[in-house]
Amino acid sequence: MEPKMSDPVYVASPLLPDLDQLAPLLEEIWSSKHVTNHGPMHQKLEAELSKHLGVPTTMLFGNGTIALLTALKFLDLPPKSEVITTPLTFAATAHAIAWNGLKPVFADVDHTTLTLDPESVELAITENTSAIIGVHVYGTLCDVDALARLGAKYNLRVIYDAAHAFGARKSGIPVSQFGDASIFSFHATKLFNTLEGGLIASPNEDYKERIYFLRNFGIKNEEEVVDIGINGKMNEVQAAIGLLNLKAVEQEKARRRELRARYTSFLSGLDGVRLAADQPDVENAEQYFPVILNKAQFGRSRDDIYEALKRRNIFARKYFHPICTDFVPYQSEQIVSTKNMPVAEEVKSQVLCLPYHSGVGVDAVDMIAEVFLNGTTA
Ligand SMILES: *Cc1c(COP(=O)(O)O)cnc(C)c1O
Repeated sequence: MEPKMSDPVYVASPLLPDLDQLAPLLEEIWSSKHVTNHGPMHQKLEAELSKHLGVPTTMLFGNGTIALLTALKFLDLPPKSEVITTPLTFAATAHAIAWNGLKPVFADVDHTTLTLDPESVELAITENTSAIIGVHVYGTLCDVDALARLGAKYNLRVIYDAAHAFGARKSGIPVSQFGDASIFSFHATKLFNTLEGGLIASPNEDYKERIYFLRNFGIKNEEEVVDIGINGKMNEVQAAIGLLNLKAVEQEKARRRELRARYTSFLSGLDGVRLAADQPDVENAEQYFPVILNKAQFGRSRDDIYEALKRRNIFARKYFHPICTDFVPYQSEQIVSTKNMPVAEEVKSQVLCLPYHSGVGVDAVDMIAEVFLNGTTA
């Protein structure tokens, strides 16, 4: 029997405000002619994000990558020094290190959380190490306490790529309070989006001034340029969309939690199927729904499931496959692992992110359930 076809279902779908709501904000922007350069929408969004994320410093950027680049620039790490990160992340994490003239060093991930394994990080530390970038991958939080201890013990800066962790909390503490700074992406695929956008958040209020200069060519005033800055600014239309989307984030999260419950009800208990780590003290960011498939136990591989879903017009994604150490420029970089077989190497062939947004309807969930449950690869 041919699989049933329907409208395509993608792994992510942008949360977009009603055009009726957007129009008055666009009219304000148009009539003021203040379309960028820290306009009123931008200032309002930074203030609201500071409240939402529970930190004093929230600096908007045109995208998450330029926010990452600027955060590393801000830290003034010694040229060519080593920055330890995870290979199980989006390319931007590693690229931001290399673009700053630093050397990415990849440590292994923890089997359960899929985030940086602190033991592996410690093995990777040398006298040239200057920083650690943890990634709260899929919204699962890093072992922030262990990474903070390593930072203190070896005098390293610790920052987080929190692109998947918007609004997450650990024991009630907002995720952006951990480390020197956290970087968020507001790309269309992210839970909270401004079409393209990014943010540096930090518990340190003193960081604001220099990040402000770095974001805007180092310009202090009409007469003075005080730093080697770049253009990382977000424009007013992006900020207006952010102001509207921020109001809708909690509802979107609630709908994703319902989807999580539906997926979990048929996936938990299946042999060879593992879901994201259970972090009971964490308020999840609801960014992705990763499934880890062990072929020896489950009978079918991640790729079998990926293809079977695709034939039904359901586009799950193999985030993150390939991993950063597979990319041509990083093939010679080191992976440090306590095991012969690094966990990241294994996970990359097993992980699949299922469609995870409020547009995933009951029909799609039923089709996904059928693919997982009835044991066919057709
Ligand atoms: C999306 C993402 C980024 C980059 O963000 P952009 O806004 O697309 O530049 C960085 N890191 C991770 C882990 C991401 O998922």
